[in-house]
Amino acid sequence: MSASDSHRENPDGPTPEAEKDALAQKLRCVVEQTADIVLITNVQGVIEYVNPAFEHITGYSRQEAIGQKPSILRSGLQGRDFYAQLWRTITQGKIFHDTVVNRRKDGSLYFEDKTITPLFDEEKSLMGFVSTGRDITERLRSQKRLSFLANNDPLTRLPNRRHFTAMLEQACRRIDNLGHSLVVICLDLDRFQLVNKAMDTPRADEILKRLARRLRERLRKDDLLARLDGDRFAVLLEGPNAEAEARIVTDKLRAALKRPFVGEDEDIILTASFGIACHPGEDDSDPLHRAEEALREVKRQGGNDIGWFTPDHQPAARQHLSLRSRLHRALEQAEFVLHYQPQVDAERHRIVGVEALLRWQPPEEDPVYPDVIIPVLEETGLIVPVGEWVVAEACAQLRRWRDAGLAPFSMAVNVSARQIGRGDLLQAVLDSLGREDLVPADLHLEVTESLLIDDDPRLDGIFHALHETGVALDIDDFGTGYASLTYLRRFPFHTLKLDRLFTADLDRRADNATIVSAVVRMARGLGMEVVAEGVESAGQARILRNMGCDCLQGYLFSRPLPAADLETFLRTGGPETTNPA
Ligand code: C2E
Ligand code: MG
Ligand code: MG
Repeated sequence: MSASDSHRENPDGPTPEAEKDALAQKLRCVVEQTADIVLITNVQGVIEYVNPAFEHITGYSRQEAIGQKPSILRSGLQGRDFYAQLWRTITQGKIFHDTVVNRRKDGSLYFEDKTITPLFDEEKSLMGFVSTGRDITERLRSQKRLSFLANNDPLTRLPNRRHFTAMLEQACRRIDNLGHSLVVICLDLDRFQLVNKAMDTPRADEILKRLARRLRERLRKDDLLARLDGDRFAVLLEGPNAEAEARIVTDKLRAALKRPFVGEDEDIILTASFGIACHPGEDDSDPLHRAEEALREVKRQGGNDIGWFTPDHQPAARQHLSLRSRLHRALEQAEFVLHYQPQVDAERHRIVGVEALLRWQPPEEDPVYPDVIIPVLEETGLIVPVGEWVVAEACAQLRRWRDAGLAPFSMAVNVSARQIGRGDLLQAVLDSLGREDLVPADLHLEVTESLLIDDDPRLDGIFHALHETGVALDIDDFGTGYASLTYLRRFPFHTLKLDRLFTADLDRRADNATIVSAVVRMARGLGMEVVAEGVESAGQARILRNMGCDCLQGYLFSRPLPAADLETFLRTGGPETTNPA
């Protein structure tokens, strides 16, 4: 009988019976075709029905499942209590909902987001249970992957700074109740940037990975080790004697570095600096912050040592913070000034150049010197705008002196390698020269030797471009940095500035004189001029002249002076008054 026949037989539409059948048919299709697992049991929990999704996901066929209990799927990972609770819930006629860890026929695990509903007949008596569930194994796996990525460092697979901070916060809360103490040990490799520079990234990364493994091996399972960033690691120790243990653990970590890292061409020996802070400690501030402050102090003292946070660092740390925020405003509030120090020729002490030196002059306070402000400007990136201001202001001052008929000399400006790596120094220099109608040869840029090493590969390009414009590049503080000779050949330096450490002992120590004289000869052999810094006595000036130094700079001739004072100094005879002739 076709559908149209039944219509003719029953002109008012399908009978309720037929409608019920059609609906039941549809429901069966839904259950059979859904991607969710459907399983029906009788009141005793014996399986009466499973759908194709069940067969597909569990690996058990319908024939294998029917007549069994769902316990065939148990993984053993959830205890008796869990199933007792499940059974209690559904036999009380309530709905059970939770994640169940099950085992497939092939033994592998899957996670099921499961709901079990008791089934009642029309008389409200229990006739069985229907369980529906969804396989969420993949979802959990990707959640786990995501959370791993968010909390771990991909290179070493150690927890990252974010995770460390979260665990530290938890631990701080926990120990207050337990009466324990905790210790944070921060470790930072000394001069790792040299290794980074000397070898390609994959090999430097390999060293960090091996270091991470060595550190991990020396710690207990419960000690947390994290890679905070770059070559900085942190350890969290917790327990009743954490402070005493910290000494032992730090020694162990130090010992982990004793063995060289064997490389393809050469073995690398690394040292590290350590900063340690305890909680409860000197105050209730963040122990990681305090450990890093102690670490900074060790680094300031030259590294390769262990430093415990002491409250003495605290004012320094606070000062540091307030310095940062005050320096942010200093530029717009015109609180930076330049002082100028003459450079004279060694023969007649005539002024051939001046060096612009930065000072910060907060209102009503003493001036602050570059050794305090330059590191903070570099750290915050402010070195770029401030450095550009220095170039512009020095050029403008030179123009003012030229216009006053005072300055047949050049202007030297200090630039930090970090400033070169970040900003567009070339453009700033060209703009300033153009604005003041100066030629590139009027300007010297002094770059500190020690800063050359830990910076950018872009330096080569920028230095050569600057050189091509005709601006003179001077290597500053020569003799205090590393790999000096390599850099002399690599970059097109015009002048070598001998550090004042060499000048200081010149008239007292013979070996110093030998070194200085060799450096002067070498520099001149490479076609460079030599300026000696820190000349304080006539004796030093004489020795340097005899060694072949071209120029001298130092308190003997003048301290760095504000522009107006230097002007007065020049008008009243200037450095030539020290002329030996
Ligand atoms: P530098 O370029 O080597 O400057 C010479 C430093 O030696 C100056 O210190 C100067 O005051 C000091 N000095 C000069 N003659 C004598 C002397 O006879 N005896 C002694 N004991 N010291 C002398 P200052 O001004 O404190 O500058 C320190 C360093 O700060 C500079 O060393 C330079 O590297 C950096 N710096 C200064 N101004 C700037 C700047 O505008 N930008 C950047 N990036 N660095 C700057
Ligand atoms: Mg200088
Ligand atoms: Mg210098």
